[in-house]
Amino acid sequence: MILKFESEFNEPYVELKDFQEIKLRKQIKYVYENSPFYREKFRQAGISPEDIQTIGDLEKVPFTTKDEIRESQRIQPPLGLHAAASLEDVIRVHSSSGTTGKPTYVGITRHDWDVWTEILARVLKTHGIGRDSRIVFAMGLTFFVGSSMKDGIERLGATFIPIGTGASERVVQSIQDFQADVLFCTPSYASYLAEYVRDHFHMEPKDLGIKIMSVGGEPGGGLPEVRRKIEQDWGCKVLEAMGNADMAPVLFSECPEQDGMHFIGSDFVICEIIDPKTGKTIPIADGVEGELVYTAIDRECCPLVRFRTRDLIRVKTGECKCGRKSFRIRCIGRTDDMLIVRGVNVFPSAIKDVVSSFRPQVTGEIRILLKQKPPLVHPPLPIQVEVEDGLTESEQSALKKEIESTLRSKLIFTSDVQLVPKGTLPRFEMKAKLVQEINV
Ligand SMILES: [Zn+2]
Repeated sequence: MILKFESEFNEPYVELKDFQEIKLRKQIKYVYENSPFYREKFRQAGISPEDIQTIGDLEKVPFTTKDEIRESQRIQPPLGLHAAASLEDVIRVHSSSGTTGKPTYVGITRHDWDVWTEILARVLKTHGIGRDSRIVFAMGLTFFVGSSMKDGIERLGATFIPIGTGASERVVQSIQDFQADVLFCTPSYASYLAEYVRDHFHMEPKDLGIKIMSVGGEPGGGLPEVRRKIEQDWGCKVLEAMGNADMAPVLFSECPEQDGMHFIGSDFVICEIIDPKTGKTIPIADGVEGELVYTAIDRECCPLVRFRTRDLIRVKTGECKCGRKSFRIRCIGRTDDMLIVRGVNVFPSAIKDVVSSFRPQVTGEIRILLKQKPPLVHPPLPIQVEVEDGLTESEQSALKKEIESTLRSKLIFTSDVQLVPKGTLPRFEMKAKLVQEINV
């Protein structure tokens, strides 16, 4: 294992093809020999491991979906027919979040653990974190990112201060006690904690001295308005990181240039981008958008091939000011939260971002009310928007109209904005829940 905390390559992604293909061929052979699920998948598609020599050949392999993984574990509990290592060789098992159904289990062997730890150390290095950094971790510790982050931080040699969730007082206290300069949390928690610091510690969050806020777990950190507000509150840089429970806890990490998240796992994972509707591959190039699909090329236990993440991303290529040449992404949303309003794709996170631009008249909290099962919804889309205290009735009615017209011009759908007083909408310490289905 290379303990460099950086990929050994600094080349544009497409130029790593030859290296990746050597690992791909080895991995496909391993998968075929050890995973009954993939042996069957290959048989049904009429292909053998020899048919997969290049990244382009991957198109011959049908996708792997989350539903298939769930089904595979139902048939052969606990790790499933896709697992390619025995439990005896597995040193840790995570359950992946069940945003779209029953959670699934992800096992890692000692080798997989080593790879994950290297990737996590890279995440931190990319953020600009070093041995002298003191990191308060305010995300779930049993959450798959939590324990892996611990390993990455310890390998890098920074100071890890794990607090977890639901303990805001201890988070603030430990930031003060250790003069911590890095905070890991979700974007919604960063906003929640800013209010908490003001209410309970009677101070401005920026006086706590956090320099880097590493956020993930939801798209907020990539939304300009949400990011600006967190940076203003905390006087810090917001850097995003993103991964996938079924592939690797984090695979993309933003550098201090804040120009998108760098792909940091090219020696362990192949990324493809596909059109989520047709499944056709879209070449990775500047400006393209589509769904991320991962293929593991250095994995023992759960070696997924062409796994559909449902994450929709936009790509940026070219050398970053930090010197890294790997491609960068922003997450636009997930195919499973996307709403379709009269044929137009609308993401709840994009609505939140537009509404947040109306600060300080609004708090930034919203709730989208759905009268029918998503994704198809009929306009106007009802959206509750929290407003700050002290607005007159005429100011409120002007604000409602202005938000509706901005949503129409920016996101091209008709909304019915319902203003509600500050504090009405539930706050979430972990992931923000922007959509609620209501019975009519
Ligand atoms: Zn960079």
